[in-house]
Amino acid sequence: ANAIEIRDLRKSFGPVDIIRGVNLELRAGERHALIGPNGAGKSTLFHLISGRLRPTSGKILLHGQEIQGKPPARIVHAGLSRSFQITNIFPEMTVLENLRCAVLWKLGHRYSVLRPLGRLRDVEAECTRLLEELRLTHRRTSRADSLSYPEQRALELGLAVASGADTLLLDEPMAGMSHSETAAALELIMAVTEGRSLLMVEHDMGVIFEMADRISVLVYGEVIATGTPEEIRANPAVQEAYLGTPNAEEA
Ligand code: ADP
Ligand code: MG
Ligand code: MG
Repeated sequence: ANAIEIRDLRKSFGPVDIIRGVNLELRAGERHALIGPNGAGKSTLFHLISGRLRPTSGKILLHGQEIQGKPPARIVHAGLSRSFQITNIFPEMTVLENLRCAVLWKLGHRYSVLRPLGRLRDVEAECTRLLEELRLTHRRTSRADSLSYPEQRALELGLAVASGADTLLLDEPMAGMSHSETAAALELIMAVTEGRSLLMVEHDMGVIFEMADRISVLVYGEVIATGTPEEIRANPAVQEAYLGTPNAEEA
């Protein structure tokens, strides 16, 4: 089963074709890296999947249901979470309050408005579990805006899974992080996405080889190759189109 299936997707801005017949499958439970040069259309593809942009043509299926052109909130409810390069948390609330909101939000859509009140103990247990998983237990009473940048990204990821997302789109989540912060963030992403499906734009081949089951290469709005990291590294067309960047770590 596929978490996401993209079929012959196209997007033009005026006369300019930016996404030019993309086919891509994100298998359920896989971690998939999306790579490609700057301007290839990676963020645009994420905007299309998350409903922020409407495709010109083509289909996007989430768990087998067509979602292209649907409003972003509907797509979130269907289990997709897309994080931006900026953080997306409630800054004046504490870490615990942020998580509680997300957990209640999820329950609110499964149960009647009042039923969650009878489930407060479950909510608190879930928050405690999430705090541990996110390594934010010691920060539970801190205001979200007092967290370090990597801690804010961790909380953002936590809010996504707490609110029920099983399919995650992360667009350069480690951008602006130091080497050690990147290593910690990668470890966290691996933990949080266990048993979920992840499509992640990333440039660092070291990170990609550690996280990705498969890679798709987007060049000028077309997926020119999909495969395991080893297959992609050995693909001459990828090396040519991507100017050797996939092998940069060997240079
Ligand atoms: P990437 O994330 O791979 O770096 P983007 O998806 O951000 O690439 O951009 C792909 C191309 O689409 C770029 O040439 C960009 O200028 C163009 N583009 C993105 N959004 C718009 C828009 N709203 N109107 C016109 N062109 C756009
Ligand atoms: Mg870019
Ligand atoms: Mg981008």
